[in-house]
Amino acid sequence: MKYVYSFEEGKKEMKQLLGGKGANLAEMASIGISVPPGFTITTEACKRYYEENKRLPEEIRDEVKKHLKQLEAKMDKKLGDPSNPLLVSVRSGAAVSMPGMMDTVLNLGLNDESVKGLATRTSNEKMAWDSYRRFIQMFGNVVMGIDHSHFERILEKKKDEQDIEFDNELEVQQLKELVEEYKNMIKDKTGKEFPQNPEEQLWQAIDAVFSSWNNKRAIQYREINNIKGLLGTAVNVQAMVFGNMGNDSGTGVCFTRNPSTGENKFFGEYLTNAQGEDVVAGIRTPKDISQLQEDMPQVYEELLEITRKLEKHYKDMQDIEFTIEKGKLYILQTRNGKRTAFAEVKIAVDFEEEGLITKKEAILKIKPKSISTLLHKRLDPEDKKNNTVIARGLPASPGAGVGKIVFNAEDAAQMKEMGEKVILVRVETSPEDIKGMNAAQGVLTQRGGMTSHAAVVARGMGKCAVVGCSDISINEEKEEMRIGEKEFRKGDYLTLDGSTGEVFEGKIKVIDPEIKGSFAKVMEWADEFRKLGVRTNADTPKDAKKAKEFGAEGIGLCRTEHMFFEGDRIQSVRKMILAENYEERKEALDELLPFQREDFIELFRVMKGLPVTIRLLDPPLHEFLPKGEEIKESASRLNVSEEKLKEKLDALSEINPMLGHRGCRLAITYPEIAEMQTKAIIEAAIRVKEKGIEPIVEIMVPLVAHLNELKKVKEVITQTAERIMKEKNTEIKYRIGTMIEIPRAALTADEIAKEAEFFSFGTNDLTQMCFGFSRDDAGRFLQEYKKKEILEDDPFQTIDTEGVGQLIEIAVEKGRKTKPNLKIGICGEQGGEAKSVEFCHKKKLDYVSCSPFRVPVARLAAAQSAIREEKE
Ligand code: PEP
Ligand code: MG
Repeated sequence: MKYVYSFEEGKKEMKQLLGGKGANLAEMASIGISVPPGFTITTEACKRYYEENKRLPEEIRDEVKKHLKQLEAKMDKKLGDPSNPLLVSVRSGAAVSMPGMMDTVLNLGLNDESVKGLATRTSNEKMAWDSYRRFIQMFGNVVMGIDHSHFERILEKKKDEQDIEFDNELEVQQLKELVEEYKNMIKDKTGKEFPQNPEEQLWQAIDAVFSSWNNKRAIQYREINNIKGLLGTAVNVQAMVFGNMGNDSGTGVCFTRNPSTGENKFFGEYLTNAQGEDVVAGIRTPKDISQLQEDMPQVYEELLEITRKLEKHYKDMQDIEFTIEKGKLYILQTRNGKRTAFAEVKIAVDFEEEGLITKKEAILKIKPKSISTLLHKRLDPEDKKNNTVIARGLPASPGAGVGKIVFNAEDAAQMKEMGEKVILVRVETSPEDIKGMNAAQGVLTQRGGMTSHAAVVARGMGKCAVVGCSDISINEEKEEMRIGEKEFRKGDYLTLDGSTGEVFEGKIKVIDPEIKGSFAKVMEWADEFRKLGVRTNADTPKDAKKAKEFGAEGIGLCRTEHMFFEGDRIQSVRKMILAENYEERKEALDELLPFQREDFIELFRVMKGLPVTIRLLDPPLHEFLPKGEEIKESASRLNVSEEKLKEKLDALSEINPMLGHRGCRLAITYPEIAEMQTKAIIEAAIRVKEKGIEPIVEIMVPLVAHLNELKKVKEVITQTAERIMKEKNTEIKYRIGTMIEIPRAALTADEIAKEAEFFSFGTNDLTQMCFGFSRDDAGRFLQEYKKKEILEDDPFQTIDTEGVGQLIEIAVEKGRKTKPNLKIGICGEQGGEAKSVEFCHKKKLDYVSCSPFRVPVARLAAAQSAIREEKE
């Protein structure tokens, strides 16, 4: 068994054994990048260390000694040498990065003698003594277990005595005194001398790093981040290089491309005559990397060459740390650089065009989430930094919203007309609020989950929304909102970030989306590879147009009920609901018919040549009625104020209308509603056909549980359609299908498929019924479920593949057993979420349908699924 590897012996695939840092350093060394030499003691050695009761076995010590000799030879320096000392860093590094959790020691090898050697060698006495002082401090803390505060106290005292502010103002004499004082304190606290023998320092440091694997914070970090199955940490021993050896030395950080814009231009900053921490610490202002070209032209060229090499090797934009020691360049670290969504897309496309990666690789490099970031207005990240978050809710619909608070839809509409920008703040929204939502810049609700009304409608509109924000409490009547102690009233400014769920006080600057160039190219490529169709959920011609622009290949769900709130027609809807008999109802429906017909004509026109799935009326009728009953007065008997009781009632009340008299149940009890809607659809189709557009009509029946329900409603649809076509003496092709959104429908899909020409999974309702969670109220506790790791994802956002997914599988299998070519899609909110899209791809659905602003996300996710499947 080999326990120690020099950097030349490893490679990047050996991460488990060498840890991330070790494997990466080895990889760079093996492709000829100049990294300071060193070696890695493996994670296997860490395992042995624990097996041997926290002792490093002799055989491993021998291997370390051998590698140390080699390192000394390579560097032409010797550990502890009084005239030419080798200094090393000793760093932890597990296979999975655990930043800051384990220990590190720098400048190891300094003692009372070698510090003088370092001073003469570098002609920099101050730097040598400062390094020694820092080393004792770090070693004393990490290895000898002395609290930082003891060192800090001595240091502060020294600075006070000298009346100086910064550490780097200390002179040699004071640094020497500090070293003595530190050593005395260590002796006092531990009863042991600070070790002068460098080899002894090394063994103790290795021991400390291994044992930090099981310190409390590292264990907690692994628990929280679910990091399991690792052997331990590796230890990297690496020659120190110094950027503070004069003006031919320096240190810096650079990105191979601009991480903010993606521009292919070397980007970074550096400092001459400085050590790594100085760049980050902000004591001196670093120079732009372009300045290096003038300061040290050769080094600059070399660095540029290396960045190209690393990009090519890692096939990604790199974030690099480097140090220059007396004109010689060393790379200390490279990793894939973090970047904005905009840069991410541009870099992927540029890499393909430069021949560094294939189209497929480029597509896999882009996070679906980044695409959705690009599609919405967003908060200026710089301005955001200057503001603090005052509340947090669910990030229901991405984008940014800035405006004055209003507490109801009428005010929103009115203020918009007056040219004001508003944020609609509600306990929760109902279909009645649509007008207000449309007028608002963003929507904030106290209640509701990711598929609550506010969330679904806002996403459809591409409007920013934060929902289920339990940090706020709203009194709609008084038009007040409270966050902690602070009160907000109508007209106060609020800013929402719908991508993060953050709420800010006041105004933050907003940036417009850019939908062109590299972004357009990525979408084009995605379409080449994806197998899944992508449709949209759209209820209005405006949404449909937007979705088409974003690449939707049809409408997968038109929720007709949303049309009922447009203009004055809500009055006819209410008349219909309040009707005492068939005749009265029919009269109201006749009023609605021409409106519906016009809606459908427009939809068919916009979606020319593409399928349009129109769903019959779905929600329970009470949603169309006005609200506002008073709560019964029982407060006095309970001896609480009416207000308090009301507040409590508001906080606890749940509305679960989604299991009631709705969906096809309405069409069964009031067939005339289905009749009117069918009539509107078919007449609209005839109208556009007359104008030369062949509509592709799909009529969808919601909330079917039993075959007989579908049969009954289908009869109404077919009879109506046939009658109208006969009257007009024309033929319209249409299909009748059903939503699969009740578990019973999924389980009996073979039966249901006998009467259905297509299925569309309504995974909002299917999830609600599979879990027994109310989709409107679950938001309140689902966050807790995620926090406590009961559920990994919110099942209303990401398909729960184990449970709901099984119902989908069963329905696909049984449905296609009856009809092998049965067209199957999904139109629940999950249809626009990447992991769910992948699931739909794997289960061989024909298409996903999602809100317009998620169409590009679904296109990318579908392509990624197809490419990954091919790779497997
Ligand atoms: C569903 O249930 O998934 C669905 C798309 O229908 P709705 O959200 O309108 O109930
Ligand atoms: Mg539904």
